[in-house]
Amino acid sequence: MDILKLQPVFKDYIWGGTRLRDEYGFESPLEKLAEGWMLSCHKDGENIVLNGEYKGKTLSEVIKDNPEFLGENGKKFEYFPILIKLIDAKNDLSVQVHPDNEYALRVEKEYGKTECWYILDCDEDAELIYGFNKQISSEEFKKKIADNTFLDTVNKVKVKKGDLFFIEAGTLHAIGKGILLAEIQQNSNTTYRVYDYGRLGADGKPRELHIDKAIDVTKCAPPERGTEPEGKLKSFDGYSEQLLTKCELFSVEKLCVSRDYIGSADDKSFVSLLVTEGNGQIDGTDIKKGDSLFVPANYGKYKITGDIEIIVTRV
Ligand code: ZN
Repeated sequence: MDILKLQPVFKDYIWGGTRLRDEYGFESPLEKLAEGWMLSCHKDGENIVLNGEYKGKTLSEVIKDNPEFLGENGKKFEYFPILIKLIDAKNDLSVQVHPDNEYALRVEKEYGKTECWYILDCDEDAELIYGFNKQISSEEFKKKIADNTFLDTVNKVKVKKGDLFFIEAGTLHAIGKGILLAEIQQNSNTTYRVYDYGRLGADGKPRELHIDKAIDVTKCAPPERGTEPEGKLKSFDGYSEQLLTKCELFSVEKLCVSRDYIGSADDKSFVSLLVTEGNGQIDGTDIKKGDSLFVPANYGKYKITGDIEIIVTRV
């Protein structure tokens, strides 16, 4: 069994920058690299395997032929459970909200979306929108959208490297300009856009808004969680690790290897390894910043050496 190295898929949304090319070394004919889909079995951007016996196949095809690669937890979902992205926001993203599973499966025939953001880097004055600054009613929310005053009631948060935002379905949110982050989310592309700063899309027309559905699903309240990782930093000989967040959908850790580390993929879940800094080796194969690896469930132990930072996700 191989650890699969994945070819990311890039998106050139209007708000994107060029840091994924300039700092991560990704190659793409697109001018802007707004998003890199690093672990994706979504029809809007499928990863292709770059190595081993499955080279050239999509990750979806490999999993269809080998469902045991998902592990027990992964098999509980109707389709591949998560999507992991790198996002380079040169400009503000639209203010948006995602439905929960119940609403999304009923209305969109797709899972809803709970997501989390790990801030990899940001400008000094960067901020984002995270819920509301006070509780308001849905009627007030609707009125404030109509008269263009709702930005007064959103919760603007200054961000710093290492912050962790848990965006539960129903939470109003927007990534602000000057932020580079990793996003771990449910495998869904259902977004209800509330406000787009009056911008025009690539076709010269305003991008569509979805006000009624947004009002249906938005919890008009301040967020319940803070912006710190959930776990404490734990240092060991040769590496350190920290739990970023854990919920019923996924668990995410940050791993910093300074010399060597032994990890493992058991029968419960596959392991996604997204390299965000440095370089090294995994079981003797070179890996570097920007690499995305899929370790099949039941792979057993793997050894990472080098000076390298990795976001580790399981379901
Ligand atoms: Zn979102």
